[in-house]
Amino acid sequence: MRLDYLTIFPDFFGPLELSLPGKAAASGLLDVHVHDLRTWTHDRHRTVDDTPYGGGAGMVMKPEPFGEAFEALGIGAGDTIVFTTPSGERFDQRLAEELATRERIVFACGRYEGIDQRVIDHAREVAEVRELSLGDYVLNGGEVAALAVTEAVVRLLPGFMGNAESLVEESHGASGLLEYPVYTKPRTWQGREVPDVLLSGDHGRIAAWREDQARRRTARRRPDLLHPSVLDDGTPIVRAVPGDAGELLTLQRACWVQEALDNDTLDIPALHESLDDVVAWMQEWDTWVVRRAGRLVGAVRGKMEGDAWDIGRIMVAPDLQGSGLGRALLDHIQAVAPEQATSYLLFTGEGSARNRRMYRKAGFRLRADLPAPPHAVVLTKPRR
Ligand code: SAM
Repeated sequence: MRLDYLTIFPDFFGPLELSLPGKAAASGLLDVHVHDLRTWTHDRHRTVDDTPYGGGAGMVMKPEPFGEAFEALGIGAGDTIVFTTPSGERFDQRLAEELATRERIVFACGRYEGIDQRVIDHAREVAEVRELSLGDYVLNGGEVAALAVTEAVVRLLPGFMGNAESLVEESHGASGLLEYPVYTKPRTWQGREVPDVLLSGDHGRIAAWREDQARRRTARRRPDLLHPSVLDDGTPIVRAVPGDAGELLTLQRACWVQEALDNDTLDIPALHESLDDVVAWMQEWDTWVVRRAGRLVGAVRGKMEGDAWDIGRIMVAPDLQGSGLGRALLDHIQAVAPEQATSYLLFTGEGSARNRRMYRKAGFRLRADLPAPPHAVVLTKPRR
């Protein structure tokens, strides 16, 4: 993975030469480039900021140095530019997993009151853009945030951790639970004992104790994590019941009419299904739905296909398309995949540019080597 940092404080990135990132760079797993943004200024003072249009406190980072830097570094399609900003999407483990699939990430670090908006708008035209926030607080600059994102992402790269097992049971992993408490030698310290069960040698009991501790800790500290099927506005994603079949059929028709128009074909089986068909597939698939004001506005389904979790029928009411609901459904159905699933699999219309963009961003990749129905393509993603 190639990492570029655009900053007015290159020294901030010294830690990348330490510890595991340093080793990964030395071994060629990471290709790290730190750039002084002032390289792309042309005045005597190497100015990177100016006063805000419209007035107000502070200074704003000028667009020209960033624009020239993007060009000089050959940033283009296939690259991801991360703008660290407190007004961005909250960075989390799911995003770290997604970014770990990228080949090149460019971090544009803000300072002062932030970066001229036109830089971000321009960047969207040349590459994938993510605006990421570390949390609901304000730092002085984007460098610390870029380092935090880097560390969370690169430790997920295959070959980065000496012992990949250490990733398996961590907080914010597949179980959705916080990690259980951990202990090491000595057995007694300051009058405090290690829990007996950990000394028992009984692996089954130890696993059960750890799971119980993880649940208790999560319930106490982060109850929100135990109910992940809730959208940002509090709307739950719930398992479909047989009585949803009629509305599912309506939603399905609405979505596939749109698909048919986009692809200029009526040759789409989902468009012609009957109520009986929907009732039948609901018995076979783990189906989830979202209701807003009583109306069924979103749905998704999954089922095991060999070792893969087959994801299908991500449906969003036409008036809500583009609102992020499709992505939330996609994230949800991955989160509820059975433990034995080693990968995710889905089909989408070959002409559905918007869907294909969403799946790509979520880490799915086109598999031209796998068979697909007419007018469709197959995408897969390994499960981490
Ligand atoms: N005026 C900006 C606002 O209110 O949104 C805050 C600017 S902050 C002082 C300067 C820079 O620090 C930002 O451009 C951003 O790069 C970085 N920064 C501050 N807080 C951050 C956070 N929570 N997450 C990521 N980056 C942050």
